[in-house]
Amino acid sequence: MMLSLKELTTEADRCVACGLCLPHCPTYRKTGSEADSPRGRIQLIRAVSQGILPNNERFKEHIDLCLSCRSCESACPNSVSYGALVDTTRARYIQKKNIWLSLAKPFIRHRHLSNAVTWPLWLLSKLNLMAVLKRVVPAAKLLPAIQKPIVWKSLYPTTQATQGAVSLFLGCATNAFDNRTLSASIHVLNTLGYDVHIPNAQTCCGSIARQAGDDIEASLLIKKNTDSFDPAMPILTTASGCGAGLKDYLTTHRIQDISTFLVACDWSSAQIAPLQERIYVQDPCSLRNVLKAQKAVYDLLKKIPEADIQALPGNSQCCGGAGAYSVTQPEMANQLLNDKLTAITASQVTTLASANIGCSLHISKGLENAHATTRVMHPIEIIAKQMGFEA
Ligand code: SF4
Ligand code: SF4
Repeated sequence: MMLSLKELTTEADRCVACGLCLPHCPTYRKTGSEADSPRGRIQLIRAVSQGILPNNERFKEHIDLCLSCRSCESACPNSVSYGALVDTTRARYIQKKNIWLSLAKPFIRHRHLSNAVTWPLWLLSKLNLMAVLKRVVPAAKLLPAIQKPIVWKSLYPTTQATQGAVSLFLGCATNAFDNRTLSASIHVLNTLGYDVHIPNAQTCCGSIARQAGDDIEASLLIKKNTDSFDPAMPILTTASGCGAGLKDYLTTHRIQDISTFLVACDWSSAQIAPLQERIYVQDPCSLRNVLKAQKAVYDLLKKIPEADIQALPGNSQCCGGAGAYSVTQPEMANQLLNDKLTAITASQVTTLASANIGCSLHISKGLENAHATTRVMHPIEIIAKQMGFEA
């Protein structure tokens, strides 16, 4: 939620400086600096909003380093709305100039432009020419594995007895880099009796723009989504980062993470093949701290007979993915990623379930660089495969 200047100072004043949020803040744990803690940032926000301190580079650095993971919000006994404070501060005082974010803007906004890039990239990968591309364009090293792009139909009707209809939110990153999760979602929803609508005009949730302080772009994207989706149908998101952004700003519609929706469905006639495997679950911050829905992922995966579902140790700490954070703050993002990789190695994880594309891409890239064989999959893809889904 964006706040007025008066609301910003009033909300900041609600912080009683108790410090209970400090041990939960990933950046404070790494730097040990009060200015990189939630309490310190709130004090800085209050001082800048009241003109006591200047809006200078040091202020921007401390706000930029915040992951917007909102662990502090979950820990706060006074329910200070840190998310609203930092979103408003970024929009009001910090407009981040990042060349990659600026270049990516039209591709984030328009799906056909993003497809125009992913098609040739996919062809290059099919021809085993990605290594050549990465030599010529070093930035291509940041790219994840490319799946074959999909041109979505507007409706995927169920062939089972109809239980209802839902809208599926594609998400810019999921559509570009993990459309298998979207196809798996359609498979599971259709199998359980749901028609799946995919409004063609939908666009990005706006979270990346908001994180960069570009409230005009974020509002434009929210407006486009508001006009695209039927308010009578729940909008299901497969990326909790998108779900969190939509829940906060697209308030006219019912937003649900797909796992939350699915665990409440009737599974009595669903056939799920057993899977004798231990699956570790990574809890994305947006699922845990904003949607408060991380339990649904475990409940969903526990429907797979014989599967052993475990939480990844250290789940309460952010992985450093955090939207575009790994691009804008690579040093801190890598420090946090290394902690995650250490936990994955210590637990000898073979399959890691993650319900957020930002975390999946960030952790997968770290695993790839470390030559680890751990697979990172969306929980929906894992259960869909046990229900006959083939990518
Ligand atoms: S949102 Fe996360 S990184 Fe930012 S102050 Fe809160 S706990 Fe720290
Ligand atoms: S826990 Fe809440 S009230 Fe206490 S310092 Fe943190 S934000 Fe302020």
